[in-house]
Amino acid sequence: MSALPQSRQLERLEQSSAEELLEWALAHFGGSLAIVTAFQAEGMVIVDLAARISPHVRVLTLDTGRLPEETYRMIETVRERYGVGVEMVAPDTAEVEAMVARHGPNLFYREVALRNLCCQIRKVRPLERSLRGLRAWVTGLRREQNESRADVRKVEDVDGKLKLNPLADWTAGQVSDYIRRHNVPMHPLYAAGYRSIGCAPCTRAVNPGDDARAGRWWWEQDAAKECGIHFAPDGKAERKLDVLLNEILEAKRA
Ligand code: SF4
Repeated sequence: MSALPQSRQLERLEQSSAEELLEWALAHFGGSLAIVTAFQAEGMVIVDLAARISPHVRVLTLDTGRLPEETYRMIETVRERYGVGVEMVAPDTAEVEAMVARHGPNLFYREVALRNLCCQIRKVRPLERSLRGLRAWVTGLRREQNESRADVRKVEDVDGKLKLNPLADWTAGQVSDYIRRHNVPMHPLYAAGYRSIGCAPCTRAVNPGDDARAGRWWWEQDAAKECGIHFAPDGKAERKLDVLLNEILEAKRA
């Protein structure tokens, strides 16, 4: 059954502030709601807002196995500052082993389809598995971040689950203001020139004035810079991805 509220309530929620939306969601879904975050600036604003409402809020992160050391330090900081447990969602070991045996550990540098395969095995499939136990999840997506996010709504129905984006209408300036006012901890890699933070081998610092996501998969010229979680890859890559993924799932079953 869809978790989406009735249309009038939906409109009200769409007009609500980030605090109001989180307050409603935490009261409505309790432990069947989780914040899914990689502890970037927006995710930290969400964690800070939610922890002020409920110390029992669930925080989930995808531990791809290729995260930078600084992200693990950040997780310790979040645990200490907010007293929340951080649930680390790991990929399926057999799937990772089959992928690495077939394509090597750094397959993502060779072609877009292999990069998408790695993101599927290490991020998308683990996220899908963890979402099965939830009725709603919260992200830090903002419309202003890039074109693919321009139409993000605050409340979305994704396969019968409620996906909440409380910062959808926030500007980068509002995020910075909030972080300053509330002394929200920041991921250590921002100080090293990173503006978007993901897995260690696929993320690097950018020059001042560059697009925030220019440091992600920088060796790819035209491929869409998303992981398939919020934005589907182009048709050709996806078809090849399906073939590659099926090979891995067959190897796992063998
Ligand atoms: Fe693999 Fe890179 Fe995607 Fe991480 S960001 S899952 S290392 S391709």
